[in-house]
Amino acid sequence: MIDGPSTGGRRAARLEAVRNDAAWLVAEFGGGHLRLGISTARETLLRVRETRVDVSDGPPATIAALRESLDTLVADLPDLRLHSAAIALPGPVSSLTGELIAPARMPGWHGARVLDELEEALGVPVQVENDARAGALGEFIAREEAIPDLIYVKAGTGIGAGLISRGQLVHGGAGVAGDITHVPVPGAEGRQCSCGRTGCLETVASGAAIRRELIGQGLDIASISDVTGLAQTFHPDATTAVRRSGKQLGTALSSLVNFLNPSAVILGGALSAVDAYVAAVRSAIYDSSLAMTTQQLRIETTVAGSDAALIGLTRIARRSTPPPVPDALSN
Ligand SMILES: [Zn+2]
Repeated sequence: MIDGPSTGGRRAARLEAVRNDAAWLVAEFGGGHLRLGISTARETLLRVRETRVDVSDGPPATIAALRESLDTLVADLPDLRLHSAAIALPGPVSSLTGELIAPARMPGWHGARVLDELEEALGVPVQVENDARAGALGEFIAREEAIPDLIYVKAGTGIGAGLISRGQLVHGGAGVAGDITHVPVPGAEGRQCSCGRTGCLETVASGAAIRRELIGQGLDIASISDVTGLAQTFHPDATTAVRRSGKQLGTALSSLVNFLNPSAVILGGALSAVDAYVAAVRSAIYDSSLAMTTQQLRIETTVAGSDAALIGLTRIARRSTPPPVPDALSN
């Protein structure tokens, strides 16, 4: 869905009921899209809108597109006052400093002071988070916080992950926990990665890697949705590539499963819509993990779907800038 509100009249009506002092902006940048919405004091997500935005155009153009998209989203709500914003970015971003560190497919973003630029453009305090970590939190919330120990993987153009431990999102010492994509994996030896090293999971298992492989085989593949479309219709080359990719991701995840003993591994992102991919991940985890860690392990696809990151961001935004009189607010 491109360029248009995705919510119906009921949600719009509920948004009208939001008091001026009870709204936050949540936004997720993907490789080729921007998804944004308004959240309320009760972490309800309203008015989700998606537009085509290419983060490889660099921070100024990307941030300008966010501002423009926000203006369109709330054009009919001139009195709406945002408390703050929480923004998810598709790269290794420190949730402590907001700094991006050598993000793949994001030229111009390395070391960029995006927090300052975002705050200047939006006129409100901004929190930034990695998209997969925000997705992990969103998935935890969407499952009514019933799975307090889970690994969430966002497998799309890139691969990212987030860990919920005892109900808390794990950030790590430098605020960059979950970056599974640069784990060295068998079968990727010698392949140059965007991080400057060779042999990373990213080079063989990401949607970008599958796309490159299929183009090399003569297929016309413009985007990740072409990859998933072919795999879902059982195109032999696409299915083979997606299966191998899923197996490599599952093998990489198995060391995390053995070490952390999560209750669930949740697969999100565009590739999670491909059954062959999910089956390959599941099979590789079972093959390479200890029985005692997998006996009760759930391996499932996302229930939060494409709103996973936005749902997580609602909590991040609200916690960073709580409403002044929470009990008086409604949604
Ligand atoms: Zn790498």
